[in-house]
Parts: sequence; structure tokens; C-alpha cells
Amino acid sequence: MTTISNSLMWFRKGLRIHDNPALEYAAKNSSNVYPVFVIDPHYMKPDPGAFSPGSRLAGVNRIRFLLESLVDLDSSLKKLGSRLLVFHGEPGDELIRCLKEWNIKRLCFEYDTDPYYQALGARVKNYASENGIEIFSPVSHTLFNPAHIIEKNGGKPPMNCQLILKLVGEPQWLSSPLSTTLDTIPPIGDVGNCDIIEVPTLKQLGYEDIQEDEPPIFRGGETEALRRLRESTSDKEWVAKFEKPKGDPSAFLKPATTMLSPYLKFGCLSSRYFYQCCKEIEKEFKNHTDPPVSLRAQLLWREFFYAVGFGTPNFDHMRGNAICRQIPWNDDDELLAAWRDSRTGFPWIDAIMVQLRKWGWIHHLARHSVACFLTRGDLFVHWEKGRDVFERLLVDSDWAINNGNWLWLSCSSFFYQIQIYLDTKYIVLSVISHDVASKECKRKIGAAYELNKKTNGMIQIYLDTKYIVLSVISHDVASKECKRKIGAAYELNKKTNGMVSDEDMQNLRRKLVEDQ
Ligand code: FAD
Repeated sequence: MTTISNSLMWFRKGLRIHDNPALEYAAKNSSNVYPVFVIDPHYMKPDPGAFSPGSRLAGVNRIRFLLESLVDLDSSLKKLGSRLLVFHGEPGDELIRCLKEWNIKRLCFEYDTDPYYQALGARVKNYASENGIEIFSPVSHTLFNPAHIIEKNGGKPPMNCQLILKLVGEPQWLSSPLSTTLDTIPPIGDVGNCDIIEVPTLKQLGYEDIQEDEPPIFRGGETEALRRLRESTSDKEWVAKFEKPKGDPSAFLKPATTMLSPYLKFGCLSSRYFYQCCKEIEKEFKNHTDPPVSLRAQLLWREFFYAVGFGTPNFDHMRGNAICRQIPWNDDDELLAAWRDSRTGFPWIDAIMVQLRKWGWIHHLARHSVACFLTRGDLFVHWEKGRDVFERLLVDSDWAINNGNWLWLSCSSFFYQIQIYLDTKYIVLSVISHDVASKECKRKIGAAYELNKKTNGMIQIYLDTKYIVLSVISHDVASKECKRKIGAAYELNKKTNGMVSDEDMQNLRRKLVEDQ
């Protein structure tokens, strides 16, 4: 094989040495490798007007985590005879300048599906291909290539996480152990007149007045990521029996989940390596849990949101997003601020939001609680506003996962069916509508009211301030009548895919009244 003189390894996420195919390729047959990271003011510039310390897009917890991860990466590269070359500026401009200045013949960087990085990558790639520079941009942030999942699903993103493995099978790389170390990296060549800096401190970035009343909960970097992975997986039985959503969201001393999300977000930990470790442990336990609840399956949820996010135009918006219900959310900034600043008066909600601000991390069910409370559950505030607060405060803030979960929790996508609550004592069959003020809803309430009168109270209507639940309650669960009701509701649900029209409802009501 011919030797390529100069290669450039562009780090964005993937801040690690282990299982890093872009870095491995850069190191292969090159005389010099330039490992580069660009501090992007878009994410890092302090915003003094923000509601808590940080930039417009990232809270200070996440910025600190990133800087620590870069220091750790730099130190690992030094052990391999290299170092991290850090720049500060618009990444596209900086990269193109480096490619020119160092006469780079090969550009390597991990493929990234986030829209911001797609656009950045496209610009640098264009320059590289126009100038005859070889480009290597492998998929290694996720287990699968999201485009491949979409292709296997007939060109559309799958709307059900369970489909992922059915569509693509277990990943091919699972058959051989992933590389966990690199022996050496070719040295950095002449750097010319470039403005290379050391990894800056928070203070150097302009965050001068950060007061810490307790140490940060995460330390950034691959070293810490691998230590935490070892710790989480040392109790093999815990891994094998992991079952989400079971688990105590308020357990702090021994958290109910791994808390590895910030490391996966920045790629300090390879999701593929994590998945492989879980698979190995599962082999030792016959009765291990399985997807969608097992620990390994949590990474499949990640894949799911990456695939849907990648294949859905305007995924991060309600408008123009084909999979998102158009709901007339309110625009009440006072309610939003009360939620964000822990002033709702609901202790559980306020405590979670304190934890989010202080730690930058909260348990999955805590995320459920506050997201539901802000949107469909109580305040009826637009999910995009809650998403923005999470995006800024979470250390693990991840474009695809955050947007996907907000769509889910606000009942805007994935999950908005007629719900059938089956209790030992009664059945509640309910249709939830978000649009309380609409004519349609008023008609629904009116019709239900009439029905209620006619059936002498056997049909009940719950009217909440924020959403309407129109329910049919029957006390006699075992009766044939009830079974018919459930059957009818199931059928309607399937037929309309959860989107029930007024006419459907009228027909169903008629059927249910006839049954009584
Ligand atoms: P574990 O249970 O130990 O799972 C291991 C890994 O699997 C996680 O680190 C994560 O990478 C992945 N994972 C777990 N649950 C999910 C899920 N539901 N969807 C996708 N991937 C998952 N997670 C983020 O990483 N970034 C976000 O920005 C984010 N925003 C969220 C917003 C809302 C409204 C909700 C309800 C959830 C959000 N999640 C997000 C998903 C989930 O809550 C976190 O990934 C998880 O709580 C992280 O803790 P852990 O590492 O201990 O998870």
C-alpha cells in the first residue's frame, strides 16, 4: 500500500481512542497525522443574558464536560506520541485553512447526522473533494447507519423501536472484537503559522464567575467513561436483569441506570463497545432481559431516534414535520419560566428541575415527569420550548434523542392512541383531544353530555383545563358487553391508527349505547 504523506483527523464527537475507525484510518500508512479540534463559538460563547451560566445553546455543565474531555483526549494522544491541535473559530473556516496550510492528502472524521454537523461536514467535504483530498467518514457514533435502517424500511424511518433489529439484524461488527487501543500514531508534521492553542479553561472562555457549591457530578473524558462502564458492568447480574422503566428514578447513591449518557453523547464512550459488552454479559445468563427493556435495548432506543431524526424533515419543529401532530399549544412564557426555574409549587416537578440545573442530568422517568407536566399533562406549553431548556441544560443533550423524546412525551408523535385503561373495577375508554377551544371539541363535549343524560350517568365526561378526556365507564368488566366495548375500541384504534375522527367517535358511541 502507498504511503499517504499528511492526514488530518477532525474530532467533533468521537472524543476517544478506543473503537475510533476514523482515527485508525488516519494513522494507517500516513507519514504525519494532525489531530484537530475546533472550539466553536456557536456553542461556547458566553451569553450573559441566559437564565443560567453558559452560552446561548449550552449550559456551563456541558461546556465544562467538553473541555475536560478534550484535556483527556490530548493526554491520551500525547501517550501515543502526538497531541491535540486546538483552534478557536468557525470550524469550517479553520478546517479549510488547515487542509491548505498542511497540504493534507487525507481527511478523516466520524460521520454525524445532526443537521448542524451535516452542513459543516458538507462544506469541508466539498472543499476536500474539489482539491483531490481523500475523505474517510465512517459511521461509528451509532450502532448502525441510520440511512441503512431507513433503506431497509422501504425508504421511510421506522416508527417503532422494536423494528430496528428486525430490519437490520444484529450489527456485523459484533462478530469480531472491536479495537480498544491504538499502539501508535504517526507524528504531527510542521504546523506552520497556524494559531494553535491549548485546551482552554472555562475562565479563558469567559466564564469567570462560576460559583460551585458542590463538585460537578460528571468528569468528562474517555478515561472516566471507560472507568464508569467497567463499574456499571461489573455487576453482571444487574446488567442481565436490567429492566426499564422499572427502577427508582430518585435513587442517587446507586443510580437505577448507568448514567453513561454524557459519555455517549460526546463519543467518549463508543456505543458499539458498550453494546458488545452487554451482549457478552447476556451470554452468561439464560434468563437475561431482552429488548425493549434490557440495558442493551436502551442503545436501540438511541438508534431508533437517530434513524427517525435523520429521515424526517423538520424533525425538531412542529410545523412542517410530517410525523408531528399540529397542536395549538399556548405561548405562556410565565408558565414556562415557572417550570424552568422550579416555581410550579409541585415539589416533585420543582425538585427535578433543580437537579437538572445543578447536575445537567436527570433520570429518564424524571424527564418523563417534567416533560409531560410542561406539555400535555398540565401547563400545555409548546414542547419546543421545553426541548430548548433541556437542550441547553443537559450534559447529554443530543439533537435526535432529545427532540424524539419531546415529540413522544407531548403526545405529538409515536404515541397518541385512544387509550384503554382496564381496571379490576371498571373500564375507561377515552379519547384525548388537545384542542380544547375548537368547535370539534365543543361538539364532542355536547354530544357526550347528551349521551350522559340519556344513559343516566353510565357515560362520564372528565373535562380537564388542558385536555379533554371523553370516557365511557362500565363497572362490569367481565360482562359480554364490556368485552364488546373493548373489542370495538381496539378495532377502531387499529383502523384509524390512533387518529379518531368525530364521525368515528359518533359511530362508536352509537355502538356502545346499543350494547348497553
Ligand atoms: P441508561 O438507562 O443507562 O441507558 C444507556 C444509554 O441508552 C443512555 O445513556 C442513552 O444513550 C440510551 N438511552 C436510554 N434511554 C433512551 C431513550 N429513551 N431514548 C434514546 N436513548 C436512550 N437522552 C440523551 O442521551 N440525550 C438527550 O438529550 C435526552 N433527552 C431526553 C428528553 C426527554 C423529554 C426524555 C423523556 C428523555 C431524554 N433522553 C435523552 C433519554 C433518556 O432519558 C436518557 O438517555 C437516559 O436517562 C440517560 O441515562 P443513562 O445513561 O443512565 O441511561
